[in-house]
Amino acid sequence: MTGVTAGPRDGEDATVAEQCPRCSAPARVYYRVFRRETDVRWSGSLRCDGCGCMMEWDFDAGDEAARAAILAANGRWVLAVTSLGRVPIRVLRVIWHELGFKPAEARARLERLACGIRTELELLLAKLVEEGATGECRRLDDAAEFRQ
Ligand SMILES: [Zn+2]
Repeated sequence: MTGVTAGPRDGEDATVAEQCPRCSAPARVYYRVFRRETDVRWSGSLRCDGCGCMMEWDFDAGDEAARAAILAANGRWVLAVTSLGRVPIRVLRVIWHELGFKPAEARARLERLACGIRTELELLLAKLVEEGATGECRRLDDAAEFRQ
């Protein structure tokens, strides 16, 4: 058994340094991604010590900067399905809908169904578990995972 099983936490966050869009001084940007019932929400806030400006925003899907910050701070994760349960077609239907993999394609890559941000993968796993699947989200922090 390698890797870490995700805990019950419901989100991830990251703080990065950026330039204040108003005065160009160094500013801190705080990103957060969290689960909200059946979807994932993103939010960000910028605070500048130079001019004191503050900005907040939220969005449905993380933009490139937000995703990169979350991955850098929390690691890249992989979703592995260990069983499709008693009625595989129900799980396969969700996989098709969510990821676009046809059943044969999905079956061939269950061990590494999706890769990326933990909060998003955990939501997907929850949807699959609801249909009878079992699986886990593991952190890909091992360089060995990338060596192929
Ligand atoms: Zn500023």
